[in-house]
This record gives sequence, C-alpha cells and structure tokens, in this order.
Amino acid sequence: MRLREIYGKTDPKISFEVFPPKEISDYPILMAELEKLKKFNPSFVSLTYGAGGKNNNSQELVRLISQNGFSVMPHFTCICSTKNFVTEHIKNLEKSGIENILALRGDIPDDPEICCHDFKYANELVSFIKSNSSLSAGVAGYPEGHIEAKDLQSDINNLKKKIEAGAECIFTQLFFDNDKFFSYVEKVRNEGINVPIVAGIMPILSSKQINKMIKLANISIPQKLNEKIIKYEQNPKDLQKFGVEYVTGQCRELLNTQVSGLHFFTLNKSEASYKILENIL
Ligand code: FAD
Repeated sequence: MRLREIYGKTDPKISFEVFPPKEISDYPILMAELEKLKKFNPSFVSLTYGAGGKNNNSQELVRLISQNGFSVMPHFTCICSTKNFVTEHIKNLEKSGIENILALRGDIPDDPEICCHDFKYANELVSFIKSNSSLSAGVAGYPEGHIEAKDLQSDINNLKKKIEAGAECIFTQLFFDNDKFFSYVEKVRNEGINVPIVAGIMPILSSKQINKMIKLANISIPQKLNEKIIKYEQNPKDLQKFGVEYVTGQCRELLNTQVSGLHFFTLNKSEASYKILENIL
C-alpha cells in the first residue's frame, strides 16, 4: 500500500524503523525482534540506509523483511550517489515489490570529496524518484529545525520544496517535547503543506543514547526528563522504566491530537516499543 493510502484513513498508523545489522549472521536476531512487534499490526517497517555516510547493500535485508510478512519502506540517501546508481537502485526496489521510499539527502560525510555532486538536497532526489519510478516518497522533517538550517522557518521553506517535488508524507525527527511537535505542525500547515506528518518516537534506552542524540541532532530535553536522565545515569533499568512511562505519555497526547502516525525508532530492540504500545493501544 502506498503512503498516500496508508495515511489516507483517519486512524493513526504504527510503523517501526530498524537499521541493517553489521553482520548478516545477526539478521535472524533482528527478525526475531520484529516478530515480537507484529502483533501491533505495523503499516510498514522502515530500513535505514548508509547512516554515517557509508553505503550498504540493504536490498537483501529489504527482501528478508518482506518475506517475513512486513511491508517495507527502505530509506535512501543521495548525497554520495550518482544518478545512474539511483536509477538502478530504485528499479531494483520496484522489482522487489517495494512501493514506498524515504528520500533523504543524508549527512555530509567527514570527507566531502567522496560525494559526487548529482544531488545536493533531498528535494532533488524526490524529483528524480518521481520522474523515474512509480515509488511514493516520504521525506524527513525536523520539529526543532535541521542542525544545518539557519532557523526553523528556513528549514520549513526547504521542506516545502520536497513536498512540491512530489513527497507524500513527512516523517519527523525524534523529539521529547510534544509542544515542539505541535508548534512545528502548525507552522508547516501555515505554509500550505497538507501532507500527513508522522511523529518520530524514540524509546529511551540509556542516558548515553540520549546524550548522543542531543549532540547529533539538536533535540531539546525537557527539565523533567533531564532530571531523571541524570538521576538514573548509573541505573539503566530505572531509566528505561521511567522512559517507557514518559514516552507512553508523549504518545497518548499525540494520539489525542489525531496525529497521522507514530513511527518508532526501535534501534533494533523490541522491548521498549512493545511496552509503550501495550500501554497506548
Ligand atoms: P534535506 O532536506 O536536503 O535538508 C538538509 C539541509 O539543507 C537542511 O538544513 C535544509 O534546511 C537545507 N535544504 C534543503 N533543501 C534545500 C534547498 N533546496 N536549498 C537550500 N537548502 C536546502 N540519515 C541516514 O544517513 N540514513 C537514514 O536512513 C536516515 N533516516 C532518517 C529518518 C528520519 C525520519 C529522519 C528525520 C532523518 C534520517 N536521517 C538518515 C538523517 C538525515 O539524513 C540527515 O538529517 C541529513 O543531514 C539531512 O537529510 P534530509 O533529507 O533531511 O536533507
């Protein structure tokens, strides 16, 4: 089912994001984690691509996840890809029965020399995908602004270019302050962008994980959460327990405002997402 149809109905949709394990021998572990989440009837599983600037051959994993009964939305980053490579990649995805793709620019690698310059921004990738395939494209949105953007408004103006290029859906960066998300949705709608906005949900697994996120992606941490992160720094079990409670509260509030969907960044672990979903569904 295409993104437009998935999010065309009024009830909020659940989806899970995973990343390709480093070793092929770990694929069964990932599949076992996903199997546990099947009972929540996810609309799809999304599979990250080349995070950290490295390419990876994720097509085999796309097929494996599909064969296990999930619809798959692969991510794709264009910053280091030639047009020829993208053409071949999207053709292969279509041949495997894939209908949706998350079209991203990707982070600029430490050595920008390894980038070819066929695509500078994600809106160019969306245009290319729309002209050369029948895939439906989703794109990334940043409730607190993308880390390189001058300010939130200019980032939203750039988001609009991706929608005008044909993107059908926005998947947001994680956030821990729902008010940032609500204010973002309002600003995006004020720009005349009417596609579904799916909330990125990050279960809290450890203080190390949260601190890394803050550094990498410009995410603010509400005082209440920050206090617990500090308090439970040496006690990951208690932090996880509090995290489930905290993110459950976030999800409940989002569902009450008729969010289009909740997209869980599972980090390839089912337990926290499972507990949160049990609480809210
Ligand atoms: P763009 O939309 O191109 O934006 C990048 C920056 O350029 C922004 O600051 C924007 O304001 C600006 N900009 C955009 N268009 C223009 C324009 N036309 N002119 C001038 N400025 C412009 N990374 C991975 O490597 N692999 C993944 O699988 C992955 N999955 C992700 C999933 C989600 C839900 C999210 C939110 C992010 C994901 N990322 C992933 C991270 C993403 O690749 C980085 O945040 C990257 O730095 C930006 O990608 P983008 O597609 O948002 O870029």
